[in-house]
Amino acid sequence: MKLSKRITTLTEDESGGWALYFKARALVEAGESVTELTIGEHDVGTDAAILDEMHRAAKAGHTGYAAIPGIPALRDEVAARVAATTGVPTTGDNVVITAGGQAALFAAHMAACDPGDRALFIDPYYATYPGTLRGAGAVPVAVPARAENAFQPDPKDIAAAAPGAASLLINTPNNPTGVVYSRATLEGVAEAAQTHDFWVISDEVYDTQIWEGEHLSMRALPGMADRTLVVGSMSKSHAMTGSRIGWIIGPDEAVRHLINLSTHTTYGVAGYIQKAALFALRRGIDFETGIAEPFRRRREIALKILEGQNVVRAVPPQGAMYLMLDIRTTGLSGTAFAEKLLDQRRIAVMPGESFGRAAAGHVRVATTIADDAFAAALEELVQFAAAQI
Ligand code: PMP
Repeated sequence: MKLSKRITTLTEDESGGWALYFKARALVEAGESVTELTIGEHDVGTDAAILDEMHRAAKAGHTGYAAIPGIPALRDEVAARVAATTGVPTTGDNVVITAGGQAALFAAHMAACDPGDRALFIDPYYATYPGTLRGAGAVPVAVPARAENAFQPDPKDIAAAAPGAASLLINTPNNPTGVVYSRATLEGVAEAAQTHDFWVISDEVYDTQIWEGEHLSMRALPGMADRTLVVGSMSKSHAMTGSRIGWIIGPDEAVRHLINLSTHTTYGVAGYIQKAALFALRRGIDFETGIAEPFRRRREIALKILEGQNVVRAVPPQGAMYLMLDIRTTGLSGTAFAEKLLDQRRIAVMPGESFGRAAAGHVRVATTIADDAFAAALEELVQFAAAQI
């Protein structure tokens, strides 16, 4: 039976850039020992106190259909947090709770783009972006952030791609590069958005993982609150990846329509998950700092290991749980390097090419395993790289 073009052409190939990850998984399933530095998932589970609250809420009856926009207390809590960190007046009416950041990305593009509209995104990009944009009916258009510019997007490149665009998706702190966008970058984006009248969809799911500089939200720039949809999530900030809880923050008219979309897609997020999320947010910033701490530590460990050699160069990681390593001195592509490293050393890293053309000749290393094992794997990766020359 014929399937829709929309679904059969969602990604360029069926792996959607995850081929190396699937290969590593298959090896593990076959009983091999593989050091997994591929995906952005914490090496700790969700905190026991959050799970207790989830359990308590479920036992207390929050197992039926929950409020589709999100329970009011959670929407208010998210709004208060955003108002405090951005200085932009924000109420619960500016917030819709979603099934994680991924559902928020899809919904935000459904709100910003009509079928066939140009939807810009920055390359290197988080692997689901082009498929998400296509899924929403838009035509994804990549705007490169160049390695020689330390992967900061150049507003000139954005302005060049902007005519006729309906939206631009940005992500800071960035996955896969670890780059935090500078004020100048964001001001350039804001200017292009206002000149060319497009929406900015600002993926800020790593906003609690900042190692250098500060996180600036696109929504806080003058004139941007009316044309920005911020994507947030508790996956990374609270180690709640499996709970599928996130949000979109935007103008109240956009949020009203997004709630209608939720009614016709997810029908909201489980009440006991929302209650647990509320409890988790109320634990405050110290809890979030604690969740981020291992990634800060491993970044330091990595930078020490990479010091004093010049075969593997790190793109300075200012945030998030990844290192983007430039391995072009080996003469290998990121894909060839990652495949050889997996075949010969049983270490799995993501090829830069999985994240777009701009990250060719790089590999992304997730800082998501215990310190000692992480240090040993990175040391071996450096030796392996040197042996290729
Ligand atoms: N955006 C970025 C940049 C991500 O890295 C991820 C997850 N890896 C997401 C969004 C989606 O996360 P979730 O759906 O778990 O909130």
